[in-house]
Amino acid sequence: MTPSAQPSRPNEQANFWKVFAAERYHGVSFTASLRTRVTVIGAGYTGLSTALHLAENNMDSVVLEAGEGGAGASGRNAGGLLAKWPDAAAEEIEAKYGKTAGHRLNGMVASSVRLVTRIIDDYATNADLRMSGIHLAAHNRRAVPRLMALATQWSDRSNPISVPEESAIPAALGTERYRMAVRFEQTGTLHPLSFTLGLARAYTGLGGQVLTNSAPTALFKVGDDWIVNTEKGTLSAEYVIVATDGFTNGRLPALDRCFYRLPVAMVCSSPVLEAGSIFGGSSKIPLGDSNSNNPLWFLIDHNSRLIASTLPRRRNRAGDGNPYQSIKKRFRRVYPSLPKLDWDYHWSGHITTTPDRCPRVFELDRRLYAPGGYAGQGLSTAVAVGKEFAKVIASSNAAVSDIPITKPRAVVWPKMISLAVKSIGFPALRLLDRFY
Ligand SMILES: Cc1cc2nc3c(=O)[nH]c(=O)nc-3n(C[C@H](O)[C@H](O)[C@H](O)COP(=O)(O)OP(=O)(O)OC[C@H]3O[C@@H](n4cnc5c(N)ncnc54)[C@H](O)[C@@H]3O)c2cc1C
Repeated sequence: MTPSAQPSRPNEQANFWKVFAAERYHGVSFTASLRTRVTVIGAGYTGLSTALHLAENNMDSVVLEAGEGGAGASGRNAGGLLAKWPDAAAEEIEAKYGKTAGHRLNGMVASSVRLVTRIIDDYATNADLRMSGIHLAAHNRRAVPRLMALATQWSDRSNPISVPEESAIPAALGTERYRMAVRFEQTGTLHPLSFTLGLARAYTGLGGQVLTNSAPTALFKVGDDWIVNTEKGTLSAEYVIVATDGFTNGRLPALDRCFYRLPVAMVCSSPVLEAGSIFGGSSKIPLGDSNSNNPLWFLIDHNSRLIASTLPRRRNRAGDGNPYQSIKKRFRRVYPSLPKLDWDYHWSGHITTTPDRCPRVFELDRRLYAPGGYAGQGLSTAVAVGKEFAKVIASSNAAVSDIPITKPRAVVWPKMISLAVKSIGFPALRLLDRFY
């Protein structure tokens, strides 16, 4: 992979993926008024996948993006390609949605990593995809049965997971800290921003347009058409997909009330000479802690840099304060014998979530849809949701979607609960979770 720029010295408060992206931006500026079949708002995985799948089916669309492609979570996440729900087990989804609908939903998630790899292959995307598998580890005895159930349930749904012998776990993970782990086999990591830009390249290669720096200023209906105004021009379309992961700058209050919003911090070290001693030797299989209340995720990139996501410190409203201290402490406890690491980059992003941490697709009005709420596990799921939109639009039938499309459902006190989790929940977890 060729870095787009080699900084003379690392810029601490920068998104590492942006500094080392192999793909390039493919947006154009918006100067005219356009008519299209579908206006997609937001150039992240959901929006670009929707547009790409529409283009593959010869359907016309335009993507409007407030910043550059990948400005949101898709360009700043932890790159973990994991086909599972953030918190729910596959059987819980079937109990909640009914056997048939739940089965379709689980199938969508189970096949989502294969969808991502198909796109990367078909469009020769330079996304540093590594299908290494991923270890999910149990930090205490109580977490073990849930992990075992996860392994059985997903393996039964074409998403193979293996369970290493207990005696093999320290060698497999490179740490004595965990008593049990499972390995998702057909999964791995990628460069999240390069994948986003690769999606944009694939879409524009099929004739699509990504109009960057073009935030909508108004959205309204004239007859059967949806009109989206920006400062630079107007788009009219049959359908609008608001693929902003629930962010609307207050312009769609009904959608604003449907999600909680939480910050996540990312850190990246200097290249680690002893990378082979992390994650159990040369395999460099990434490690996630199955404790979804206090997530911990490590991966080693192609240059042997350690990249980790962690809870942010409460320094400012974005949770952007220097998070090295907390990650250092946790890392030291999981890998006590490693020499001191130097940290080069830190950045942060926001995730949106729902009470059950499952994503939703809302029909805000006729032919106006909004997905979101991937809860920190949206990489492949968002791509899969984009494909479902293309199916819905091609058939003019919402029932063909594997993810149910429902009326908007407000969550309880979205702002207050998000603030409480950020300001009280995260700090309390850090204090109380003695494992770290
Ligand atoms: C720090 C972090 C780590 C994560 N790690 C992982 C991981 O390891 N694995 C995983 O599966 N998931 C992970 N996630 C979650 C995953 O990144 C997201 O679920 C996914 O990227 C959501 O994609 P999206 O296209 O729906 O939203 P986004 O990527 O946020 O895209 C929305 C786009 O809409 C644009 N936009 C916003 N408002 C407007 C507006 N008003 N007008 C026009 N455009 C607008 C934004 O600029 C953005 O480009 C992580 C998220 C974060 C923040």
